[in-house]
Amino acid sequence: MKKRTKIIATISDFRCDTPYLKTLYDAGMNVVRINTAHCPIEGAAAIVKNVREVSDKIAILIDTKGPEIRTTKTVEDFTINAGDELLVRGSDSPEMLSSREALIVNDGNFANEVNVGNSILVDDGDIELIIKEKKGETLHCVVSNGGFIKSRKSVNCPGVSFTLPSLTQKDIDYIHWAIEQDIDFIAHSFVRNAQDLLDIQTILDENHSHIKLIAKIENQEGVDNIDEILDHCYSVMVARGDLGVELAAEQIPIAQRELVGKCINSKKPVIIATQMLHTMIENPRPTRAEISDIANAIYQRVDAIMLSGETANGKYPVEAVTTMSKVARAIENDLEDISEVNMVRVNNEITAQLSRSAVRASQNLPVKAIVIDTLSGRTARYLSSFRGKKPVYALCYRKHVMRELALSYGIFASYGEPSIVHDRFSQQLLAKLANEETLHNEDLIAVVGGSFGATKGASFLEISTVNHLMNKALID
Ligand code: PEP
Repeated sequence: MKKRTKIIATISDFRCDTPYLKTLYDAGMNVVRINTAHCPIEGAAAIVKNVREVSDKIAILIDTKGPEIRTTKTVEDFTINAGDELLVRGSDSPEMLSSREALIVNDGNFANEVNVGNSILVDDGDIELIIKEKKGETLHCVVSNGGFIKSRKSVNCPGVSFTLPSLTQKDIDYIHWAIEQDIDFIAHSFVRNAQDLLDIQTILDENHSHIKLIAKIENQEGVDNIDEILDHCYSVMVARGDLGVELAAEQIPIAQRELVGKCINSKKPVIIATQMLHTMIENPRPTRAEISDIANAIYQRVDAIMLSGETANGKYPVEAVTTMSKVARAIENDLEDISEVNMVRVNNEITAQLSRSAVRASQNLPVKAIVIDTLSGRTARYLSSFRGKKPVYALCYRKHVMRELALSYGIFASYGEPSIVHDRFSQQLLAKLANEETLHNEDLIAVVGGSFGATKGASFLEISTVNHLMNKALID
């Protein structure tokens, strides 16, 4: 049984050699993520080059910095204790250093956006300051949870919506580089609303880029505005690292469930990220809770699950990917046929209607696989969103579409030239699948295709044996 849930592995430029990437690919990695917040462009270029040497099926995702707030570099790291007083100021100059005298954050307007009583969470929420008083641009805070303040640590203020521009200059430079490099996905950090996505989409459109946008939902605003965000993104990442700081911890599973449901309904790939196998950064064996977290994501029927530090700098990266693959296979095997296929919005779309019928047929009949061709990837994504148990083999006529489908549940994409007689694509794909013994002559297959050429969309569903479909051309 092939693994249907897709795995995204974060790769750093410190460890991106081809044999390493090949081992991760063989263990089940489908997409490589480059976190631009921690990787210079030259490092990213090395990762891209090596990934492409391993396989043309691995999709590449770059993750932007986005409108995130951080402390500046410290003159010297320092400790603060509960009850201490600490001054906080905003500055647009990275030259302004943080010290025990004043903690500086990288947003010149910071003091105007927060209020007395707000809490300032530093370093993934480990340190908490409460704003007691504002004097001009200076915030007088009291430490409620102490800790050690180091350079450039994350800053979150739950419930505060900041007006920072969605893209930094570093992001813009990276986006132009990604366009030149034919990267597949840009995951944009801290997406708050549709406009944050439109800021990138405009750059992509001006440069005729096919790069697809993934909205990272990591604060309350993103959760609240998910409907308009879904209208402007290709996919959503539930980025639980920052989300877990911005929202109360017990709200995370609730937000995850809601976001996953909305994505499936809208037929958009959904990714669950962060701390899925966090303890495997240091240990070869995961905790029971981590296994259950992965399992629950798969029971919720997500498309993809993501590894961060586990593969970027952890001690057991291959074991982490292998663990995810094993859990995915076990849970997928346990999944019931989806009775709620109606949870996916069909509207009046022929492709969605045909996809639903194909998945239903594959549940009611002994169908071994669904076989399709797809120009833009839409038919494949729609079939994927119904989360059938049977594999969907997709013939793609564009290499980037094949790679994009590395993010979609249950899709196994390959590349081929369009056939001259369009509705004969299935013979091309079936011949390949039969040749590699993925399918056999007597297997029953559901084919979704278009009779009017690759650009005109799906128009038929046909159910027959491999043998019959392969010989159809001779009979016609
Ligand atoms: C997250 O916050 O969960 C996340 C994936 O983003 P980053 O790793 O960029 O902080």
